[in-house]
Amino acid sequence: MGKPTGFKEFTRELPPDRSPVERVRDWEEFHEHTPDEMLQTQGARCMDCGTPFCQTGMILSGAASGCPVNNLIPEWNDLVYRGLWREALERLHKTNNFPEFTGRVCPAPCEGACVLGIIEPPVTIKNIEYSIIEKGFAEGWVVPRPPKSRTGKKVAVVGSGPAGLACADQLNRAGHKVTVLERADRIGGLLTYGIPNMKLDKEDIVLRRVNLLAAEGVEFVTNADVGRSYPAEKLRTDFDAVVLCCGATQARDLPIEGRDLAGIYPAMEFLTTNTKCLLDGTGMPGALSAKDRDVVVIGGGDTGTDCVGTSIRQGCRSVVQLEILPKPPDSRAPNNPWPEWPKIYRMDYGQEEAAAIFGADPRVYCTTTKKFTGDADGRVSELHTVQIEWKLDANGRYSPQDVPGTEKVIPGQLVLLAMGFLGPEKPLVEALQVETDGRSNVKADYGKFATSVPGVFAAGDMRRGQSLVVWAINEGRAAARECDRYLMGSTNLP
Ligand SMILES: Cc1cc2nc3c(=O)[nH]c(=O)nc-3n(C[C@H](O)[C@H](O)[C@H](O)COP(=O)(O)OP(=O)(O)OC[C@H]3O[C@@H](n4cnc5c(N)ncnc54)[C@H](O)[C@@H]3O)c2cc1C
Ligand code: SF4
Repeated sequence: MGKPTGFKEFTRELPPDRSPVERVRDWEEFHEHTPDEMLQTQGARCMDCGTPFCQTGMILSGAASGCPVNNLIPEWNDLVYRGLWREALERLHKTNNFPEFTGRVCPAPCEGACVLGIIEPPVTIKNIEYSIIEKGFAEGWVVPRPPKSRTGKKVAVVGSGPAGLACADQLNRAGHKVTVLERADRIGGLLTYGIPNMKLDKEDIVLRRVNLLAAEGVEFVTNADVGRSYPAEKLRTDFDAVVLCCGATQARDLPIEGRDLAGIYPAMEFLTTNTKCLLDGTGMPGALSAKDRDVVVIGGGDTGTDCVGTSIRQGCRSVVQLEILPKPPDSRAPNNPWPEWPKIYRMDYGQEEAAAIFGADPRVYCTTTKKFTGDADGRVSELHTVQIEWKLDANGRYSPQDVPGTEKVIPGQLVLLAMGFLGPEKPLVEALQVETDGRSNVKADYGKFATSVPGVFAAGDMRRGQSLVVWAINEGRAAARECDRYLMGSTNLP
């Protein structure tokens, strides 16, 4: 273990992020580099627990607790404390294909489950992970490692998000010829066209890994919309197996009065267009731009937060984020004990930025929108909201009830709908005739990943519904293992 008394001697420490007022002027990442000495003392805080809850990924009360890819956290905490960075990198890559992604964007269920977290702030696991992989790249330790031999088998991976990339990486290591088919013009799925650049840089970080995979022999085909521009039958004739990793990006809509007005968009259309314009070096289309507009984001989750941060960078006049649920407590509620994911009030980067620019957290809780009204040109101009109370209904379930007298009209010339996702898009699912489950995700048991069509596997959000990058990596790796077993009769993939 690190230092036996480390957790008593040192407190949790992280380098400060770039100041919100400064960082909203650009699209660069906002995390700062951590000095090695600080990382070593943070690694020393790890107690090397007999049962390391940090690395034991499980679902508790509907949320991840511990690391879903079972990162060997106490081992690399100790190696970092001892300055053995290269060994730490090797241990990290054993379980996680892309620590540079999770080290940036993971909510860190490992930290929520850290045993030290019972009595003190947890070990800075995510920052240590990030620092190990970035040192690995900086030192030139992360280099292409193509497989020594090839099996002659061909696999198509459809979709290039974290599930598809992890799956392709593993299958390529097993010696199969892997082709990743992606309908977008760039590789990365939501790593590229979902999570904004200030959280995860596209050209320096996502492309760096894609180029590495390409150098190892993975073939990438962009603008290949399987089931539309790329015939689905070709998957069966040209490949020995197929892994579907197409995500779950069908957005939930808000079909209320005034929804047809101009200026109301799904969050993903706004975020995707913004990143594409940034990467293409073009300006944001006027109709979709937040510049000089009052922006209302409907949805208090992470996608909504990305809309807040993006709107501020585009120069919005004001931003409000409406959340239907109540404000979470400041510390764990009695029914949310360790090691469950702590459902507590947090200021994420977008809210920090809104508070710095406009003076307050933009979230308004227990509020729902009843209708939109527009201006003479047919563009949305106002939202009519009401506060709600969560009450037990006749079926014993909590349901929202309007509170009379709390009606409000708020200005909004750009409304972004960030209310979650309803499963994968239909055309490919229908073209391949794979069965779906009750939530309209592709039906494939966790652990097996086989769909109803022999030789066709499914992983990531397309199978489990909209989730986290780290779960997508977990599923992509595991589906690769099952696909390898299908192709070869047995498998050595982890
Ligand atoms: C705005 C936003 C922000 C998020 N932020 C975070 C975060 O900070 N941290 C975190 O852990 N998670 C975050 N998530 C969730 C995370 O991004 C997803 O869980 C993860 O990307 C799922 O990976 P995936 O590979 O299954 O699917 P995706 O990343 O959705 O990739 C699917 C890919 O398949 C392609 N595709 C779809 N259909 C076809 C077809 N017919 N032919 C070819 N290609 C096709 C799509 O174009 C896409 O590139 C966020 C999600 C959103 C929407
Ligand atoms: S739970 Fe926390 S203290 Fe225990 S091994 Fe994991 S990181 Fe270290």
